[in-house]
Amino acid sequence: MNPTLKVFKFGGASVKDADAIRNVANILQQYQEEKLVIVVSAMGKTTNALEEILKAHAKGKMEEAKTLLTKTKQAHYDICLNLFGEAHEIYDTLNDVFVEIEWVIEEEMIDPYDYVYDQIVSVGELASTKIVAAYLNHIGLKAHWQDARDLILTDNLYREAWVQWTETQENIDRILKPQLKQEGFVVTQGFIGSSSENFTTTLGREGSDYSAAILSFCLDAESMSIWKDVPGVLTADPRLFKNVTKLDRLSYREAIEMTYYGAKVIHPKTIKPLQNKSIPLYVKSFIDPEGSGTCIAADVDDLYPPMIAIEKDQALVRISTRDFSFVAEQHLKHIFEQAATHRLQINMMQNTAISFVICVNDIDDRVERFMEGIQEAYQTVLERGLELVTIRHYNKPTLKSLQDGKVILLDERSRNTVQMVTKTAPVLERIG
Ligand code: ASP
Ligand code: MG
Repeated sequence: MNPTLKVFKFGGASVKDADAIRNVANILQQYQEEKLVIVVSAMGKTTNALEEILKAHAKGKMEEAKTLLTKTKQAHYDICLNLFGEAHEIYDTLNDVFVEIEWVIEEEMIDPYDYVYDQIVSVGELASTKIVAAYLNHIGLKAHWQDARDLILTDNLYREAWVQWTETQENIDRILKPQLKQEGFVVTQGFIGSSSENFTTTLGREGSDYSAAILSFCLDAESMSIWKDVPGVLTADPRLFKNVTKLDRLSYREAIEMTYYGAKVIHPKTIKPLQNKSIPLYVKSFIDPEGSGTCIAADVDDLYPPMIAIEKDQALVRISTRDFSFVAEQHLKHIFEQAATHRLQINMMQNTAISFVICVNDIDDRVERFMEGIQEAYQTVLERGLELVTIRHYNKPTLKSLQDGKVILLDERSRNTVQMVTKTAPVLERIG
């Protein structure tokens, strides 16, 4: 164990503009005596903006793609103007970073969509970390910019790459550990990695938390902290519910359960590596850095209030055989094979004699492609625009409040958890 090493992760909201970056620097001032690896996301909504550029490019709308790129670049320059004034090398640095996108969108798109996605969208993190590292140095906090692609090695499943742990550990031992013996902080990108052919990959949307956990694991960090715009982990999304309270402590297991089913506070893959090495995870507020936040660790009492996670954009597919036979094991084998091929993420499933029902994340056209893949042998019925509601440690009032005004299409109940796939009831049904 390296007792002084901490990994901090700052998400998009914490670096969304010049004042936000100043605030991050203020927080970091307090940690000057410590060894810190600082993982930073793209600024504000940059990733979404870069996705729009890609979409325009994929449709062959070069002018639109260029205009959108100019807008995103300008937003970064404006922040730099505020932070550094006019004369600073950051502008050249940013030009070098963004020129990668220019090159891509000037050509017709021939490479696979997911590959191009990663090449374009990764630029958000490269730009934000260049700015944050430059600003820390600008105000006298020594910071070394580290390319995460030299550390995190992945397979080449673009947009959802899997970490190659052995190689990643070797890279971190070889590159990052010696760097940490030097003075100053290390600033690196969340969300991005590199395939063995040296192409940029990404770990999935909101994957910066996971990046920080990978680094924490490989460095045996003393702790990891995620700095967010909420006071800690809350019992439900405060934008959707009233009477939400902060949890002071949470077990790894509880955190995994909730984040897996749509509690957006932490990326679901984050917890496991930390749990394996008993590294505590703090979720803290960058607005109120002195606040106690939430500590996610191993030893926690089992007494939790009801906690609610809602996953939107769910689709339900009811599958039955065309020859009216029962859905048996060889059918399931075929269905799961197609689900894996089309990268369908199954959140819930139920099997009856004549049908098999799955609830999946409705991403791009994956459901359609999956249905096409099985259509020869199966009849399918699709329902979209649904929500998956997960309640841990449920009680009657919470359940009732979540069921009111909803049509429940699928549900499942175990000792600690209720899950239901719902849609809003038509107004008529709600009366009486
Ligand atoms: N910038 C990426 C995203 O918005 C990764 C992250 O924020 O964690 O999805
Ligand atoms: Mg984010």
